[in-house]
Amino acid sequence: MSGFGPFETLAALAPQEPPLADARASITDGNLDDGIVREPTRRRLEELPKAHLHLHFTGSMRHGTLLELAERDGHRLPEALVEDWPPQLSGADEKGWFRFQRLYDVARSVLRTEDDVRRLVREAAEDDKRDGSRWLEIQVDPSGYAARFGGVTAFTDLVLDAVRESSRDVGVGMAVVIAANRTRHPLDARTLARLAGQYAGRGVVGFGLSNDERRGSTRDFGGAFRIAERAGLLLAPHGGELLGAESARLCVEELHADRLGHGIRAVEDPALLDLIVSRGIALEVCPVSNVALGVYSDLTSVPLPELMAAGATIALGADDPLLFGSRLAGQYATMRAAHELNDVQLADLARSSIRASGAGDEDRSAWLGEIDDWLGQ
Ligand SMILES: [Zn+2]
Repeated sequence: MSGFGPFETLAALAPQEPPLADARASITDGNLDDGIVREPTRRRLEELPKAHLHLHFTGSMRHGTLLELAERDGHRLPEALVEDWPPQLSGADEKGWFRFQRLYDVARSVLRTEDDVRRLVREAAEDDKRDGSRWLEIQVDPSGYAARFGGVTAFTDLVLDAVRESSRDVGVGMAVVIAANRTRHPLDARTLARLAGQYAGRGVVGFGLSNDERRGSTRDFGGAFRIAERAGLLLAPHGGELLGAESARLCVEELHADRLGHGIRAVEDPALLDLIVSRGIALEVCPVSNVALGVYSDLTSVPLPELMAAGATIALGADDPLLFGSRLAGQYATMRAAHELNDVQLADLARSSIRASGAGDEDRSAWLGEIDDWLGQ
């Protein structure tokens, strides 16, 4: 597969097609129900400069690469990753999440050599670059690869080297967020936080916490996050996706989150949303992922306009394109179609993503200027 145009992603979400088709038609026609003919939106979203802050390492793999690596090693993939791709998923219950996790593990298992890792990172950079990304933070839990690649430190070194190389060759800023797994022991998270801290300023910009929000106790990971905080890393735990606002609140209060992985369900608690807005905590909103995992029934139900109206800092992200079938520009395209966002609003989202990133001040202000240029076209 050679990348994703903005509306190919809609086709990948066939079950939600009716409301989307309607939204898309009204935009294409420039003719909404109120009878006022508006100028159709024309600026290309792939040309809108933006930052990508929520992309998982394995989940960033191209589908074609998965098929190729599996075939190379005689590795039989489940139909959901071949003929039936992208898979029908639901994270609404533990069984659905287990299925998601199992497919993720299958995908991880095809990465066998250092070259595979370098290829994955390079292709993630290329795909992001094509989608207008100026800065990509790729999130990885090195413990998932430690056994095959000589330990967490050796694997982290490999990823960071691949990131440096790809960033230079592809021409997109890149950094790593090291994420602990909340289904493992909090002491493992402390080990990873120390590791992340050792690489602060050398390619690692953040520390996260991922996997099934319903498992483990957020509070128990406070120690790991204090270590990462002292190292000056951005703190970006997942929260407020599969569980509601209370889980997002715990990430804010107990983990001192600078950004929330998803965080979308903070919208369910206006007081929490106020707190998030007043502290400038960014929400890494991944709309296509939300729908694929059954958090919302369709893209028009993703409450992005409510978050925008509250003044939240938002960075749209793809989460796991390999499993959800949509990359970075696809998030902007689906939200444009589903919520009839205009280009000024889309530019605001892109600005937010850049401001919430771990990129340097000079780069950020240059990219913000490029967004003004995009709007001025
Ligand atoms: Zn995620």
